[in-house]
Amino acid sequence: MILHDKFGRQITDLRISITDRCNFRCVYCRSADPENYRDHDEILSWPELDRLARVFLSLGIRKIRITGGEPLVRDGVEDYLARLHALGVEDLSMTTNGHLLAERCDRLLASGLRRINISLDSLDPGKFERITRTKSFSTVMHSIDVAQKSRLAPAKVNAVLVRGINDDEVEAFALFARETGVIMRYIEFMPLDADRHWTHGLVVPAAEVHQRIHTRWPLMQIPHERSETARKYRFADGAPGEIGLIAPVTQPFCGHCSRIRLTADGKLRTCLFSKEDHDLRALLREGASDDDLVAYISSIVMEKEEGHHINEPGFVPPSRTMVFIGG
Ligand code: SAM
Ligand code: SF4
Repeated sequence: MILHDKFGRQITDLRISITDRCNFRCVYCRSADPENYRDHDEILSWPELDRLARVFLSLGIRKIRITGGEPLVRDGVEDYLARLHALGVEDLSMTTNGHLLAERCDRLLASGLRRINISLDSLDPGKFERITRTKSFSTVMHSIDVAQKSRLAPAKVNAVLVRGINDDEVEAFALFARETGVIMRYIEFMPLDADRHWTHGLVVPAAEVHQRIHTRWPLMQIPHERSETARKYRFADGAPGEIGLIAPVTQPFCGHCSRIRLTADGKLRTCLFSKEDHDLRALLREGASDDDLVAYISSIVMEKEEGHHINEPGFVPPSRTMVFIGG
């Protein structure tokens, strides 16, 4: 069985947020203000997450990315990955801010993790500190180095570009890719920040990023699968590293979207920008059978939104912000 929606899109890709907690406060994601996290009993337990993973795999989900909040702050993540691996997930990956990665890399590899995305929004320590509101620059750089020397290589390094904050580093990030061999991914800023500072003017269009890198180091496009969010490029001069451009704002890829999301508190979201989410936790805790879950999930996915409306007048961002959805 393969999940699909009424627009004929097959849904094979699931992002699971395992926590809404995070040890960073990135300006484009979390607020500087203290936030009250959800109580532990509101967050799906490991057995609940195991059960949902089995149900999703029976529905044809093949790719699972573990995210958060910061996934490495929740104890037990390696064991969960090992169980997902044993269930036969074809493509198991994780997105992390890298703070705890170096010390956990061996255990993550032993658990079956094969791909990693690490966030890095500046190559300048002071600016990194201002963006993430932490002093973790050297720790994160060390983690990237450890990942690059492991079977997780090549690591994907994610930078969210925000106009006036780090858009002066486009070329520096590309040079970093050439020097280290990482896959450097530039992500357009989306209206999912807790402080609601997002405006169109803060978005750095992927076309601009492409033009700036291409002028300095000519790029050649690499073919991508239809459902992939990134446009991928290698350097024409044969240098190591790769460039990925992710343009959800200026070049939406909704028509090829194959993705759904499970939040840490057990809500199913069919789009980052969904106005509502759907309560799997309540079903689980009310004693739903696997058949009930399959029927419910299939019916919700059938109604997946055709696309987002960021570029339309009157767009209202979702009430949940990125850290509570799971990017
Ligand atoms: N804490 C981990 C991390 O930062 O990599 C995983 C969770 S984070 C929410 C997942 C991804 O979402 C990160 O690459 C982050 O940069 C990205 N992100 C967060 N807020 C965003 C926003 N407003 N627009 C675009 N990307 C955003
Ligand atoms: Fe935390 Fe990741 Fe959000 Fe930064 S982007 S605040 S590291 S969840």
